[in-house]
Amino acid sequence: MKFSFITLFPDLISSYFNESILFRAKENGLISIDFINPRDFSQDKHNKVDLPMLGGGAGMLMMPEPLISSIRSIKSEGCRVIMLSPVGKKFTQNDAIRLSSFSHLILISGRYEGIDERVIESEVDEVFSIGDFVLTGGELASLVVCDSVARNIVGVLGNSDSLSGESFEENLLEAPAFTKPDIFEEKLIISEYLKGNHSKITALKRALSLCKTKYFRPDLFIKVAKKASNYEK
Ligand code: SAM
Repeated sequence: MKFSFITLFPDLISSYFNESILFRAKENGLISIDFINPRDFSQDKHNKVDLPMLGGGAGMLMMPEPLISSIRSIKSEGCRVIMLSPVGKKFTQNDAIRLSSFSHLILISGRYEGIDERVIESEVDEVFSIGDFVLTGGELASLVVCDSVARNIVGVLGNSDSLSGESFEENLLEAPAFTKPDIFEEKLIISEYLKGNHSKITALKRALSLCKTKYFRPDLFIKVAKKASNYEK
């Protein structure tokens, strides 16, 4: 799968692919990464890409031409063009899984006060926010989307079983997990985990997962409860 980052600051992103899982995925040809800098498409003699906002307002906005030319220079058949913005739909694990079946994602990072809305109208398929806060630029958000999509591509994780039973599957958070030692600073692990009875462990993990979801994410727990009550009807 190809990830194309449209950004004024490619160095903020590139080093992420020099280590660990995504480095190996790149080396094994499972993903490829490229960078397109809108400044290279600027018609301005100083390579300017931003202008003051029309109608007033503090700060500058990325102007349409360099961004649109950047996108069109790399758009491929069946690719998905994604803008990162605080005004977008909240990005979720379901989106990460769904997007992993595309062959090419184009991720646009805004800067300054964002981008001219007409770029979104004419070129963008989906707009995603990574949370209800405002970042200085879209590079971190683009990386978040890329990382979470890439790990759902077959072969990227060494053990594909790691993808099952993760948080957000069936709207549940993952149950507490432990490793050795059995006792650490006088804290014991749940004894059932040590006994090797897999059906008991599965049932216990499900119960703990429900508790954790109810406590930390009541919004998700409501969905789980609604689904269960529909089954009962
Ligand atoms: N003026 C914009 C607003 O109030 O919605 C914020 C612009 S922000 C300073 C600059 C860029 O950072 C945005 O164009 C976007 O690409 C990125 N960004 C900031 N917060 C984000 C978030 N929560 N999710 C995704 N991208 C974000």
